[in-house]
Amino acid sequence: MQQLENKTNLGFFPTPVEFLPRISAKYGHNIYIKRDDQTGLASGGNKTRKLEYLAKNALDLGANALITIGGQQSNHCRQTAAAAAKLGLQSYLILRGEKPEYFQGNLLLDKILGANLLFVGDKDLFQEIKILAQQLKDKGIVPYQITMGGSDDVGCLGYVNAIQELKNQEDILKLEFDEIYFSTSSGGTQAGMVLGKKIFDLNAKIIGVSNDKSNMDGLPLAEYILKVINSARKNLSFEPEISISEIHISKQYNEAGYGVFTENEQFAITELAQNEGIILDPVYTARAFFGMLDMLKNQQNKHKKNILFWHTGGQSANFSYNTFF
Ligand SMILES: *Cc1c(COP(=O)(O)O)cnc(C)c1O
Repeated sequence: MQQLENKTNLGFFPTPVEFLPRISAKYGHNIYIKRDDQTGLASGGNKTRKLEYLAKNALDLGANALITIGGQQSNHCRQTAAAAAKLGLQSYLILRGEKPEYFQGNLLLDKILGANLLFVGDKDLFQEIKILAQQLKDKGIVPYQITMGGSDDVGCLGYVNAIQELKNQEDILKLEFDEIYFSTSSGGTQAGMVLGKKIFDLNAKIIGVSNDKSNMDGLPLAEYILKVINSARKNLSFEPEISISEIHISKQYNEAGYGVFTENEQFAITELAQNEGIILDPVYTARAFFGMLDMLKNQQNKHKKNILFWHTGGQSANFSYNTFF
């Protein structure tokens, strides 16, 4: 598949797959972790993989600025700023809310990375990015627009490719995973994984733990993911269809709403840190890890399964949640 080669190198791959001995003993399954918190690019995360494809597309189109949208602690915005810096492009980040007095966590890194920051209060980010793109064009800049989380048909290729990487690791480890758990939000990661599973014939059931009740660009998340998959399938000329029933999203842990830190997230972060020395993030992976442990605990199934927790990064946000610890 030639489009899967059309990327620029921004990170460190393959990311390690590690066994979690103490967590496995405690929760009764063989539990592994894939370290996409170690992808590089200004402290790592799942956006590195998407940006390898998005930034390449931007360069192919002759762009000289990357522009994107997100919350103030967006990992995607931080990594987009880093990708732009690494490639000699400008970056513009349109961020929700008002400019804070002190910058912390990802926002601090955005500033260090030289991004142009625009705080837009509660205005619609999807509208604001169009307005900014036009303003930049009027000034002679060639912007490349990246949607929320980099979750489109180009960005998702990062996780199609990641499934191929995981298949190789299964061969090396001589095992097949039964289930993969990870945090799903704007859907690009899950779109890529589900499409990659089909293309590379991965056995594992892919379970996204939702951290966000809101729609993605006006669509329920599963429908948005299917839309992204279908346009990526078209670009890759991959015929086999994927149905919405293949997109598994667990919604029972997102009641508190996006970015709201509860005792579930607190438990997950300290549980993994104090048993394995690995740090989760407060917004995404903590909720997903909590959800995974809870689902495993509630399963009646007596036989031990091979479980993979896919760590998607985000640790820098812990520094803006410091009052909770
Ligand atoms: C963006 C992000 C996710 C969610 O990935 P999507 O592709 O947006 O669904 C999960 N974890 C972390 C740390 C992230 O930054």
